[in-house]
Amino acid sequence: MESAPPPAWDVAIVGGGPAGISTALHLQAAAPGARIVVLEKQRYPRDKICAGGIGARAFRLLERIGVEVACPHVALDAVALRLAGDTVVVREPGCGAVVRRIEFDHAFARRAIERGIAIRDGCAVVGLAVSPGAAEVALADGEVLHARCVVGADGVAGVVRRLAGFARGALRAQVVELDTEPAPGDLPRDTIVFDLATRALRGYAWDFPTLVGGEPLVCRGVYALGVATEQPRARLADYLAARGLDASRYRVKQFAERGFEPGAELARPRVLLAGEAAGIDIATGEGIGQAIEYGAIAGRYLAGALADDRLGFADWRRTVDLHHLGIQLRLRHAAHRAFYGRRRATAERILPRLGELLRAGVQDFAGAPVSGLGVIRGVGQLVAAAVAAI
Ligand SMILES: Cc1cc2nc3c(=O)[nH]c(=O)nc-3n(C[C@H](O)[C@H](O)[C@H](O)COP(=O)(O)OP(=O)(O)OC[C@H]3O[C@@H](n4cnc5c(N)ncnc54)[C@H](O)[C@@H]3O)c2cc1C
Repeated sequence: MESAPPPAWDVAIVGGGPAGISTALHLQAAAPGARIVVLEKQRYPRDKICAGGIGARAFRLLERIGVEVACPHVALDAVALRLAGDTVVVREPGCGAVVRRIEFDHAFARRAIERGIAIRDGCAVVGLAVSPGAAEVALADGEVLHARCVVGADGVAGVVRRLAGFARGALRAQVVELDTEPAPGDLPRDTIVFDLATRALRGYAWDFPTLVGGEPLVCRGVYALGVATEQPRARLADYLAARGLDASRYRVKQFAERGFEPGAELARPRVLLAGEAAGIDIATGEGIGQAIEYGAIAGRYLAGALADDRLGFADWRRTVDLHHLGIQLRLRHAAHRAFYGRRRATAERILPRLGELLRAGVQDFAGAPVSGLGVIRGVGQLVAAAVAAI
């Protein structure tokens, strides 16, 4: 009997968003000879429903492999939290940017193409079969690719998760957004605003400055956990009405998000998940920077795994957990339980007194060094505020 030919690809990456492109670029940087193909079901420039806020941490990661993603953006110097009766602004110059995903993701994919990475757009993956020697990836047009392993970087409703038999996952949010002209009461355009003032909402509303075709607009939206009970569109209409804006005048876009679940499975033999397919920050729904960071970890991890032919990926979950990303995602998972739970009123009273921890959070978003002393002081503030609140 003839043996099967060796797989044509080392890695087939399903999904050409931030997680997939970052994985490809970081893998190539760590293993220049790796045979990588990215399979993206849409055609670039492809859009993704998203507010486009990216912490500068992601740009710092990409700088390390010499990648700059140039596209129109609004530069950010501050993050604001609106609470019932209080607004906390944390300034951290250069902490991030707001982009349009149709522009950012296209520019990012072009960086990979320039480095010789094979990106096949308009190529939907519909089937996946894993055998002891390879993974078979079936495309919608009937073609079958053979790779030594597969990365599921195909987002919130990714097919890889389903086809490889991972659990569906429980942590979801529904998110609605639209772009309006600026309105009275908006903060300066270097600031992104998270509005947590509506206690009945398990989530928040936001105002992010944005540039649409060169026009300065504001992307506003509602992030809602507990999708069965929340009505994000109605919440968004109320939020806009309070700012003198009529929601019916704008095109509302809606999409889901998948949160990172501590302990959940992230890999099977020859298949690993990255980006939102694996799960992103459930507290804020931030996922672009996380997707890029997943890619940075996955690229280095895969380089070693391919070299040693260790493609069971049993330690991928642990690798993520021990990395900054895993620690951040677990902390934010804990924060989401504390904040959106039964003690929300208490959490809201405490939050404005946590200046040091909020500053550390924004420094982390910015990829700036987080002050250890600040974190210690912040924990002190947290303990003092919690004791006072009892
Ligand atoms: C309304 C809204 C606002 C948001 N705002 C922000 C924000 O301001 N900042 C932030 O950081 N995050 C935000 N997010 C989250 C962010 O958009 C995602 O977390 C991020 O895009 C995840 O990147 P990814 O590469 O993992 O997945 P994606 O960007 O979803 O990319 C996955 C890719 O896989 C492709 N794909 C899917 N199925 C297949 C298939 N079968 N075959 C081939 N390709 C396939 C898709 O076409 C897509 O291009 C927001 C999300 C929503 C819904």
